[in-house]
Amino acid sequence: MRRRRGCTQVIRSISCVLVLGVTIAVGAAKPYLSAGDYAKYVQRLTCSVEDPDHDDKIRVRKLRYGTSGKGRALIAHIVEPAKSLSDKARNVYVIGAQHGDERNTKIVLEYFVRELATLSNDFRNRRRIIVIPNYNPDGYKRYHRLNASNIDLNRDFPSSDGHEDAPRASETAAFMKLMEKYPAYSMYNIHQPFRVVLYYPEDESFARPFSLLSDYPLGTGVGYPTPGSLGTYMREKKVPIITVELARHMKAAVAPYIYEEIRLALYYSAFGCIPKPAQKSRIETYIAE
Ligand SMILES: [Zn+2]
Repeated sequence: MRRRRGCTQVIRSISCVLVLGVTIAVGAAKPYLSAGDYAKYVQRLTCSVEDPDHDDKIRVRKLRYGTSGKGRALIAHIVEPAKSLSDKARNVYVIGAQHGDERNTKIVLEYFVRELATLSNDFRNRRRIIVIPNYNPDGYKRYHRLNASNIDLNRDFPSSDGHEDAPRASETAAFMKLMEKYPAYSMYNIHQPFRVVLYYPEDESFARPFSLLSDYPLGTGVGYPTPGSLGTYMREKKVPIITVELARHMKAAVAPYIYEEIRLALYYSAFGCIPKPAQKSRIETYIAE
């Protein structure tokens, strides 16, 4: 009898621990959706165009917006808004490889740029999509976090906590000039390796779709101070920004899989909805390369 009661108690406490564990897991990983709920969520965010002209593809314009310290071109890939809406354009920025050693941030954004050019022009809306896969070409070339002058380009903005001489790097100055031409409506800053969507508390509703669509958890900080970061700078300008930390893997062979995790989130970020044809994954194309 006593033994039984003990057993029951043990079972109880195990289930108690289990319940607690599940609660904590759900709490920590709150964005995760079941497969069915995920499909419904994607459906809810889908936009389709009646009878789109598939022969008239989106043109992705290459803009050289500046020059790196070592003389490399700083390139933005731009999808213009639909003509009738261009005076009301919202400029959405997606940036990769601010840190040159975060290799796959550049590669996944190159995949994304390539895919954008396969969509019908009819999917353009009031957004101007500005993708910069390789923000720090000198750092990328030498496989290094910093630019050629050893400046961390994500600590070089003239935010209230930034360096007094910021911006010091030509890459930053050029980017700020680009933002003068196309003031940011929202921004997605892609990094590695923490696999998390970092957001400021006031931007939670902005960050949540990226997290739900990618299955990356939400987080509010990397755990160390980041003075002069692009995040702080944009926050002070009241522009919603999230810093997406991709999965850890730096090998190019893994890039298609990392891209697959975030591609619907990227589409949603860029267009404000997920164009229906984009839901068909092209991962085979990228793996085959
Ligand atoms: Zn980084």
